Amino acid sequence: MARRKKLYEGKAKVLYEGPEQGTLVQYFKDDATAFNAEKRDVIEGKGVLNNRLSEFFMTGLGQIGVPTHFIKRLNMREQLIKAAEIVPLEVIVRNFAAGSMAKRLGIEEGTRLPRPIVEFSYKDDALGDPLVPEEYIMAFGWATQQELGEIVDTTLRVNDYLSGVMYGVGIKLIDFKIEFGRIYEGDFPRLILADEISPDSCRLWDIETGEKLDKDVFRRDLGNLTDAYTEVARRLGVLPSNVTHANTKPTLIN
Ligand code: UDP
Repeated sequence: MARRKKLYEGKAKVLYEGPEQGTLVQYFKDDATAFNAEKRDVIEGKGVLNNRLSEFFMTGLGQIGVPTHFIKRLNMREQLIKAAEIVPLEVIVRNFAAGSMAKRLGIEEGTRLPRPIVEFSYKDDALGDPLVPEEYIMAFGWATQQELGEIVDTTLRVNDYLSGVMYGVGIKLIDFKIEFGRIYEGDFPRLILADEISPDSCRLWDIETGEKLDKDVFRRDLGNLTDAYTEVARRLGVLPSNVTHANTKPTLIN
């Protein structure tokens, strides 16, 4: 681990200097935090699963023409990514009411929304990532009007893609959070999807049973988080061969 220069350490990931200019190595930790890091634990195997799952989603999105930071997976916990200047926004899409929206508006969790709703939080841990209107984003210069339009369009494409992929394996995509970054081609900034896409930043419910397969398992003490993420990875066919769990049963292949 000392072989690379650490540039940044967040709650769930570490960024190291990449092998080439314009690249970084993103390392997925096993640390889990919730409620602005008031609740924390180390969940063995989470980082390995999120590395695989984020690779899977970013690769799929790349294949349908959504530009992402993902270059390639390096090993169990690390992936090579493009270095981007992060837009300081958490872009959240909601298909069904849950979490903070359900609480704020008094809507029962799981209620289908009239249409997908995109909202923005300003990325600032000290402030608890406050919800912000678009007007703030442009007035404070966090993104231009043109960028914001592109962010919304791309986010809705990501929502369609993820909803479809999840639906195909019997999972309802309730909501999720993504982040964008800018890379520069000459003087021109271009937006790309950055950070990660994993059950840490999505709400995923089993279509049949309503069982939660995301970080709410940790937030709300609903069971074993690694088992939930393993189930998502198993259904998507991206289970790393060397991650095994006591209750993983052999499956019959026809
Ligand atoms: N989310 C996230 N990081 C955050 C806040 C939210 O990944 O800092 C994700 C969260 O997992 C959920 C969605 O964004 O899938 C909407 O979260 P919500 O606003 O309901 O907040 P929460 O209830 O998680 O505090």
